[in-house]
Amino acid sequence: MHELLKDILPIQEFDMQMIQLMRLKRERQKELNNINSIKNDLQQKSMIKDGEIIELKKNIRIYEGELKDIVDKIKKLESQQNQVKKVEEFNALSHEISQAGRERATKEQRLSDLYDKVAAEGDILKSLNESLESTSESSKALEVEIKESIARINKEGQGIKSQRDALVGKADPEVFHIYETLLKNKKDRVVVSIENRCCSGCHIVLTAQHENLVRKGERLVFCEHCSRIHYWQESEAIEGVAEPSKPRRRRRTTK
Ligand SMILES: [Zn+2]
Repeated sequence: MHELLKDILPIQEFDMQMIQLMRLKRERQKELNNINSIKNDLQQKSMIKDGEIIELKKNIRIYEGELKDIVDKIKKLESQQNQVKKVEEFNALSHEISQAGRERATKEQRLSDLYDKVAAEGDILKSLNESLESTSESSKALEVEIKESIARINKEGQGIKSQRDALVGKADPEVFHIYETLLKNKKDRVVVSIENRCCSGCHIVLTAQHENLVRKGERLVFCEHCSRIHYWQESEAIEGVAEPSKPRRRRRTTK
């Protein structure tokens, strides 16, 4: 293997752990956002409904005032009618009273509709508030769990980062820069072995000539298909570095 790549491989393993960890963190964050958006949505709806009910009650008060005026007016007309003596005046007042009576009926109908409406809206508001409360209650434990898990992820991430940073200090800056640029693009392993003459990154078959170049390990060799850097996995080097490949032959028999 190219000497300079030996320092990159453990960094790469830390980076893979970090990518995995951040993926998990994003998922958990998304869960938390979902809970919050459900709650916000319910809160929003409840606020709007509240506003609608206030508006309806305002209208009710106006109609009630108008109805009272009409009722007073009718009373006044009726007492006037009791006092008149001429038929024409009596008839004119009768006409006015019946007109006011029709107005009163219309107002009463309108008011009754408004009472129904405000009751119905009140029921909706109540059920909105109930579901908001039950959502908050039921998600409480989950929220705590997610927040704790995010805190754990952050802590683990800090641990990985400090170990990784220590290794970066020892790596060749130029090779590390190339590695990092590739990693940013692929967000996946970018220093990969050749297995059965295939790039283990893109799984495309390589030429024998390419494999020989990699095997020599004199310079960095890039996959011509996916641009990953190739290294040759010596059988000794398999241990502890990368993914397991062929099972090792047993050299000694152990008891
Ligand atoms: Zn490739």
